[in-house]
Amino acid sequence: AEMVAAEFGYKTEDVTFDESEVFASYDEDDTAFRAPVVTVMGHVDHGKTSLLDYIRTARVAAGEAGGITQHVAAYKVETPKGEVTFLDTPGHEAFTAMRSRGAQVTDIVVLVVAADDGVMPTTIEAIKHAKESKVPIVVAVNKIDKPDANSGRVKQSLMEHELVGEEFGGAVPIVEVSAKTGQGVEDLLETLALQAEVLELRSPVEGSASGTVLEARIDKGRGTVVTVLVQSGTLKKGDTVVANEFYAKVRGLNDQNGKALKEAGPSTPVEVLGLGGVPFAGDSINVVDNDKDAKALVANRREKRLRKESVRSGPSITEMMLMKKVPTLKVVLKADVQGSAQALAEALEEITNETEKVKLEVIKSEVGQINETDVKYARAGDSVIFGFNVKTAGKAAPVAESEGVPLYTFGVIYDALDKARELMIGLLEPEYREREQGEAEVRALFPIPRLGVVAGCRVTKGLINRSSHVRVLREGEVLHSGVIGSLRVHKDDVKEVKDGFECGIVVDGFAGLAEGDQIQAFDMEAIPPTL
Ligand code: GDP
Repeated sequence: AEMVAAEFGYKTEDVTFDESEVFASYDEDDTAFRAPVVTVMGHVDHGKTSLLDYIRTARVAAGEAGGITQHVAAYKVETPKGEVTFLDTPGHEAFTAMRSRGAQVTDIVVLVVAADDGVMPTTIEAIKHAKESKVPIVVAVNKIDKPDANSGRVKQSLMEHELVGEEFGGAVPIVEVSAKTGQGVEDLLETLALQAEVLELRSPVEGSASGTVLEARIDKGRGTVVTVLVQSGTLKKGDTVVANEFYAKVRGLNDQNGKALKEAGPSTPVEVLGLGGVPFAGDSINVVDNDKDAKALVANRREKRLRKESVRSGPSITEMMLMKKVPTLKVVLKADVQGSAQALAEALEEITNETEKVKLEVIKSEVGQINETDVKYARAGDSVIFGFNVKTAGKAAPVAESEGVPLYTFGVIYDALDKARELMIGLLEPEYREREQGEAEVRALFPIPRLGVVAGCRVTKGLINRSSHVRVLREGEVLHSGVIGSLRVHKDDVKEVKDGFECGIVVDGFAGLAEGDQIQAFDMEAIPPTL
């Protein structure tokens, strides 16, 4: 375009909006050590939640009356060796959800392995996730208070997955802990704090902040509450921030205990109040100089998104062919916090990769209780409703019942996934398999008024049932397949005739039987569908 314009004597100017121009740039030489940001992973029931709970109640609230009782997305603890920030969403969905939005917030993965259970499939999956994102692992061998704890065995099997403990000449810190008694937890915290130095975790402190949204929700009294992890620079009250397509002047900053802060530096989780909408976990959040830049930035993002959406509106031909054939379970999703909604939506859509036969589509995913609008939306979209850690509000439950909208609520992601699989299987037609029942030979033909031609047969193998499917064969060739119109012994209608007996058979809709033909009988066995 530039060249063509020049041919005609026009000058061109590149007016593309460049986001980096309105964001702060940092002096890379002016950095300071920062706390490591830790995600806890591991197999279900190995104690991730217990460990996070123990650390939060024992350490965070020291000195603060009551401590944190409400849910927090992240918190920071002090140790003699330095600070450590924990992301308080155990599990892999949250980690993957962040990563899928291009956000890398985790510096260290704490891999929890129960000493009485050992390395399990999800342990291995966690190791894989951490390695793929090049995040170092610190192992917490948990439940060492239990009599059947065997941490030696755990360490052995970890070696098979290339996690070699320091005591065996490797580089992976392995700490034995009990989330129940607190034994070793102090050790774990100090190990993590020390890793900040080992890993050379540094960030610029001066300058406007940038960070990542950890969680966002709408609070009844306070409006949009976004938990942000500051990663570079310092976030201050009164700053103008942009996240996703929303911006705001930061009205208030709160720390993990709900205490108002004036500012927050790198690796600090803070609650930001006042954003105009709910961004997604994993979205970046940036401070800009003024409202004008914020508006321009948001407008540009919006336009880009709309352009992208318009390009891919309408399915391709392959998609249309698939849509015709593949049944789809549609889900309206409501959750307590944005993080869970997102994690669950992604985990649900992931199921689609397990099978070609049936799809799952989350048609709406929102934060909040299940209300009547959701039910109507689900009804219109022929979809089911999944609530995660939320209840129904108002008349939602009775309306769902009367409109026949299936509504399920869950407190555990895995339960929701199991239900989704079950519902998806329910959408599949069963497949049928022939099961041989018997054979008969046509000995004579009798034209009978109203019945047509009745074949006088002798059952030579197995049995023939009134409801059997049949195939007529002549010299090994199939002449007809269908069902039986009438099955009689003498003049009586019968249900079945066994090997060695004679009977009269009318093959429904087939008059071409001849002496010597064979009739094979079989039934159709339904095979329960699987994904
Ligand atoms: P998660 O699924 O990994 O989050 O595991 P949870 O934290 O929910 O713990 C699963 C079960 O193990 C719960 O019943 C806990 O009380 C128990 N548990 C967790 N840590 C310990 C521990 O160190 N010692 C003992 N004895 N039990 C533990």
